[in-house]
Amino acid sequence: MTIRRTLRMDGPVYWPGDDGYDAHRKPLNPDLDPRPAVVVRAAGPADVRRAVLAARRHALPFAVQATGHGTHVAHDGALLLHTGAMTSVHVDPDRRVARVTAGTRWRDVLAAAAPFGLAPLSGSSPDVGVVGYALGGGLGWLAREHGLAADSVLRAQVVTADGTVRTVSADRQPELFWALRGGGGSYGVVTALEFRLHPVDRVYAGAVTFCRDRAADTLAFYRRWIERVPDALSTALLLTRDGKLVVKALYTGDPDRGRALLAPLWRAAGPALDNGMRVVEYAQAAMGGTFARTFDQVRALDDDLLAALVAEPDATVEIRHWGGRIARDRGAAAHRDAPLSVILDTVPSPRVAAALRGAGLGSSFLNFLADPARMSTAFTPENWTALRRIKASYDPENIFAAGLAVPSAPVTPQAVAVERAGRGYLPSGSAALSVSTPLS
Ligand SMILES: Cc1cc2nc3c(=O)[nH]c(=O)nc-3n(C[C@H](O)[C@H](O)[C@H](O)COP(=O)(O)OP(=O)(O)OC[C@H]3O[C@@H](n4cnc5c(N)ncnc54)[C@H](O)[C@@H]3O)c2cc1C
Repeated sequence: MTIRRTLRMDGPVYWPGDDGYDAHRKPLNPDLDPRPAVVVRAAGPADVRRAVLAARRHALPFAVQATGHGTHVAHDGALLLHTGAMTSVHVDPDRRVARVTAGTRWRDVLAAAAPFGLAPLSGSSPDVGVVGYALGGGLGWLAREHGLAADSVLRAQVVTADGTVRTVSADRQPELFWALRGGGGSYGVVTALEFRLHPVDRVYAGAVTFCRDRAADTLAFYRRWIERVPDALSTALLLTRDGKLVVKALYTGDPDRGRALLAPLWRAAGPALDNGMRVVEYAQAAMGGTFARTFDQVRALDDDLLAALVAEPDATVEIRHWGGRIARDRGAAAHRDAPLSVILDTVPSPRVAAALRGAGLGSSFLNFLADPARMSTAFTPENWTALRRIKASYDPENIFAAGLAVPSAPVTPQAVAVERAGRGYLPSGSAALSVSTPLS
């Protein structure tokens, strides 16, 4: 049977030349001009299942896209599953839980949760897709207090490579549930996600702009100051191309306390050119992000790195404070121990590159990664081994291989030893590590 006959969907199917093909094939990155073999706009989980099975049957590469914000590879020749029509949000204010379907953006969750004084662990842009963001870790302004978005996920409905629609949670197929919350789109297509909301209503947040001439002193102050701030306060420092130092901050506690906590940092930075700090609804507090050409987690802002960053001529540099709940939680996503990360919007100069190597941990974060070849750097070695082993169980043929994906790996005794030597990731009640235990 031809693929045209196999692909009988509830939602529309776009072939090259069809109206709608161009509108649905493009990601956000304007440098990419992908030419998928076909685009399927899923109407629901049944369409997702049909699309996965059709791609397998006809040996087509498979890719999934919700908003295109995290698509870094052109899905040429693929069956591209577009989830943009699968949008719905249900908020249960008593349980403080939200349930969304695959194509939902943070904007919709923010609007649905705010009337109950609740907030999701969204990030810098309300237009980003909930599922892609959460599966890749999800670092938002509330992460130091409430953790990464991946760690707030309670349940997922997922279509795996064999076409099975599974509901997974800490009690049901816990290994797959663990791997999904950090391993990105490597394990299947998530059709629905349930996650915790947090009692965050109004916050003291915004950005304050200073002249850059005191940037070195401010950064030297900042690296000591962050050791004392509470988890409820999150900050990022930006050195901008137009000679400014911008401090972004969000505090979830009493605004007067927030002002007092931030006052020493403002004094270190000098007179403000513009002060945008205000009390706002969390849903209005999105503060944009820096385009990440390079992303490095660092163990400290040491003297060499500080001097090199301040002297970097043609770049926007963003230094972000991690720690807090991120470091205390366990999970597949991210390296948890880094206190700071450094983003540059351009290729770093040799001096900055050397300083980053000196202070850097060699690690990255899946949601800020664009290069599939660096996938392993987004995880601890023991988590990477576990992710590959679980991938081999659920997707041995590597159907979910597009873009940033965990490759499947044969499970060797050595690999299991790496996992055992790690800090222990398995959720309570899950199967013990075994080279022979099938997972599904
Ligand atoms: C402007 C901007 C701001 C951002 N801010 C933040 C931030 O503050 N914090 C942060 O952590 N990240 C941030 N990101 C990164 C973002 O979270 C990732 O790029 C994420 O992958 C985007 O998901 P998407 O679904 O919107 O994108 P898409 O390009 O549609 O999808 C990206 C990938 O997500 C996976 N995916 C999407 N839907 C599904 C599904 N239903 N099932 C399985 N896998 C799926 C697939 O692997 C897919 O290739 C930002 C990105 C941008 C462009």
